[in-house]
Amino acid sequence: MKTVYLDNAATTRPRPEVVEAMLPYLGERYGNPSSIYGIAREARAALDEAHEKVAAILGADVREVIFTGSGTEADNTAIKGVAFANRDRGDHIITSAIEHHAVLDSVKRLEKHGFRATYVPVDSYGMVDPAAVEAAITDKTILISIMHANNEVGTIQPIEEISKIAKKHGVYFHTDAVQTTGHIPVDVNRLGVDLLSLSAHKFYGPKGVGALYVRRGVRMDRYIDGGGQERNRRAGTENVAGIIGLAKALELTAAEMEHEMERVGRLRDRLIAGVMDRIGHVRLNGHPTRRLPGNASFCFEFIEGESLLLNLDMLGVCGSSGSACTSGSLEPSHVLLAMGLPHEVAHGSLRLTLGRYNTEEDVDHVLKHLPGIVEKLRAMSPFGAVEAGSGEGTCGECREAQQPVGGRR
Ligand SMILES: *Cc1c(COP(=O)(O)O)cnc(C)c1O
Repeated sequence: MKTVYLDNAATTRPRPEVVEAMLPYLGERYGNPSSIYGIAREARAALDEAHEKVAAILGADVREVIFTGSGTEADNTAIKGVAFANRDRGDHIITSAIEHHAVLDSVKRLEKHGFRATYVPVDSYGMVDPAAVEAAITDKTILISIMHANNEVGTIQPIEEISKIAKKHGVYFHTDAVQTTGHIPVDVNRLGVDLLSLSAHKFYGPKGVGALYVRRGVRMDRYIDGGGQERNRRAGTENVAGIIGLAKALELTAAEMEHEMERVGRLRDRLIAGVMDRIGHVRLNGHPTRRLPGNASFCFEFIEGESLLLNLDMLGVCGSSGSACTSGSLEPSHVLLAMGLPHEVAHGSLRLTLGRYNTEEDVDHVLKHLPGIVEKLRAMSPFGAVEAGSGEGTCGECREAQQPVGGRR
């Protein structure tokens, strides 16, 4: 059976050119870049080149890019590193309610160490209001961290506006750009950020390698202690093959970005329109236009996202649900709840994320089978049989919640 991979926000298939560029560094070019002989110097030269490539694509200086062990590590480094280095200036951090757990849990950890945090809310589209960020700033605020685009619902945040506010108040600004790097333009100067995280496996590179941009002059402690690698900012022998793979992947995605944004965006629109057209009682999650080219996120009322996923899996379709199964109980996504969706609606979430290997046939495969799956699951639903198109079965709470976006039936 053909696999239709629609979970590109979780990870992407590495490009063959990326794997090929990495292979020598997993084999014969095994030198430690910190050593002084020939094979070590080869590895060092390759690392230096990777630094230059990545810096150039981000609009940064080569000295401002640190390679890390993941996007998660980049987020942890930025948040904890800035907090601890600037404690003498203040103890307050501002972030949003819909951040990735790499950011949220880093901030929560800092709260346990005596820092204070404000989690600014979002609107029903998952959008952060820059005015709410500004209102949260106090003379003790040292860091703002707001993601460039959300991984669940795809909403792209007004980063340029928030960075102007941060600059005006002399507060450092970090953005988690893990979902946007390689997919939409990411230029640190245009965005106006001081720190930015990215991760290779989200743009057709290898897993276990990320990068953090740190603007020159930013006071930041290092997060991993040990040797003097990465200009003394991240200890540990470098993941040479991974870093080569990250740089290659970024270079390739940057070259085809304009074309892919258009092509993948068209596939997304076909998928969204098709789902809204064929299925009743469905909402589009996230902003209708300010969203990632590959993101289609829905909530299907009266069903569990998990059962949708299992049924799609039987057809070879890989997707994801906002619900994460924790210790036997289904906890709905913190992102969907922050957007104001009622618990039972948030449980019916389905995220399908498209990428460079997807085609129109993939979309049509989903559109052909999804309506039947939804109908079957609703027939078995504890809410009772729901006739598509009728308001029957809609509980009061669901009706009061935000109106379905674009549902035609
Ligand atoms: C995937 C992801 C991360 C974590 O990156 P890893 O390299 O998988 O650790 C952080 N933030 C966002 C928004 C992500 O999508």
